[in-house]
Amino acid sequence: MEDLYSLLGVSRNASQEEIKRAYRRLAREYHPDLNRGDREAEARFKDIARAYEVLSDPQRRRRYDLYGDADISPAAERGFADFTSPFGDIFDLFFGRGRRDREWAPRRGSDLTWRLTLTLEEAFFGTERVIEVPRHRECGSCSGSGLEAGYDLDLCPACGGEGRITSTKRTAFGTFTSTSTCRRCGGRGGINTHPCPACGGEGTLFEAERIELKVPAGVDDGDRLRVPGKGEAGSGGGAPGDLYVVMEIEPHPYFERRGEDLYGRIMVSVAEAVLGTELEVELLDGKEKLKVPPGTQPGHVFVIRNKGMPMLRGGRRGDLYLELMVEIPEKPSHEEKRIFKELARLQSRNGNDRKCLVPREADGA
Ligand SMILES: [Zn+2]
Ligand SMILES: [Zn+2]
Repeated sequence: MEDLYSLLGVSRNASQEEIKRAYRRLAREYHPDLNRGDREAEARFKDIARAYEVLSDPQRRRRYDLYGDADISPAAERGFADFTSPFGDIFDLFFGRGRRDREWAPRRGSDLTWRLTLTLEEAFFGTERVIEVPRHRECGSCSGSGLEAGYDLDLCPACGGEGRITSTKRTAFGTFTSTSTCRRCGGRGGINTHPCPACGGEGTLFEAERIELKVPAGVDDGDRLRVPGKGEAGSGGGAPGDLYVVMEIEPHPYFERRGEDLYGRIMVSVAEAVLGTELEVELLDGKEKLKVPPGTQPGHVFVIRNKGMPMLRGGRRGDLYLELMVEIPEKPSHEEKRIFKELARLQSRNGNDRKCLVPREADGA
């Protein structure tokens, strides 16, 4: 077996960068696309690629230096995509954009994620939205084949239509046979010489697609809505992925949502807190009458059952919690001052029994 270093024309102590440069130069020189029908160049190209595969990986290079074990098979069996990844630009150049990541087995397209911002009201009532999602979809002109109408693939000259290439290597440890995906055709067994004019042979088109969404009532921040088949297009006849719409609920000026429950605050005057009052509170879905009994303390929480957010499944609703705040006039009028002074006189306690600290058990409940 020819020495891997001499295959690339570098010395045994060449740096990784030198190895990479040598490989790129030779790969361009011997590439089958530039040497059509030249069997020698083709064999040479394969040898160069194998030498680079081992020497570009520091661990495998070290093992090769120590034992002469080229260890071709594991990485080769990982296939075309893995093999090309460290030097994708060369394969971009030779095989065209997008081809290098494709193996010719049906592969499902990847899922897409889309963030959808909703107001609390929209989350409450549910809504319909139209979004425009840029995605790869199957080309309608060629139904994803990438071929111009009336044409078929040409037989791949590298693998003879097999889609796989079997190679045998003799090493210090014995003979290794490895089968790898054909790099020329990506395992497809054929070459597309008449690409579809609509998609340029890709089989997919990248476009923004209008997608109508029905957002159900009760969705919460982070909830995901699945739209089947609206992810990226599959390859090799594989199904498209799904689109996941992730809900983001905007903060509301008056209500905070915790699970299915809503929390808000209401404000009354000192007099209303003392004498009691009836309020009309504007909720997300209409008005709600609320009785504030005389003597209600600041911080008191009114719980209104079944007035929170609707639940996604089942017709029940969460609860509404309203905390009472008492407005203290910052700039009382003359008349108010007079009345408060009167009140102060009425409520005055002589210095001795004045107690401003509140016993802890009096709080809470
Ligand atoms: Zn092939
Ligand atoms: Zn097409």
